[in-house]
Amino acid sequence: MEASLNDCIFCKIASGEIPAKIVAETELSVAFWDISPRQPLHVLVIPKSHYGNVAELAFSDPDSLIDLVQLGSRVALDHSTGSFRLSFNTGSEAGQTVFHAHGHITSRTPKAASGD
Ligand code: 5GP
Ligand code: ZN
Repeated sequence: MEASLNDCIFCKIASGEIPAKIVAETELSVAFWDISPRQPLHVLVIPKSHYGNVAELAFSDPDSLIDLVQLGSRVALDHSTGSFRLSFNTGSEAGQTVFHAHGHITSRTPKAASGD
């Protein structure tokens, strides 16, 4: 079941209510280090507004999705050699555990050790 907006952890990160290591942000999106990195570079990029997954974001707010992909790409290019993956787990059976849309920026070739 989806978290309500009131207890959505990524809404709280977007509003600053819960701390996160912010990498970069725009008016519409925030990028921050994943708390449990699974690649040498592992950053999450989220819309500041709540959408349950990337499909809802794409259909409801395409401008915000474009902004998210642009911010994620900028962070990836700044922090890696240019080889990176942008992925969106969608649905619990695909591994989604936080039901606020988010892209995973991962890379095996960071420019420098980073993440904490
Ligand atoms: P999902 O499995 O939903 O695609 O990805 C959720 C991601 O959010 C996981 O990689 C997990 O490590 C990360 N995550 C969960 N809670 C927090 C948190 O409070 N802070 C940060 N920075 N990352 C989190
Ligand atoms: Zn949310």
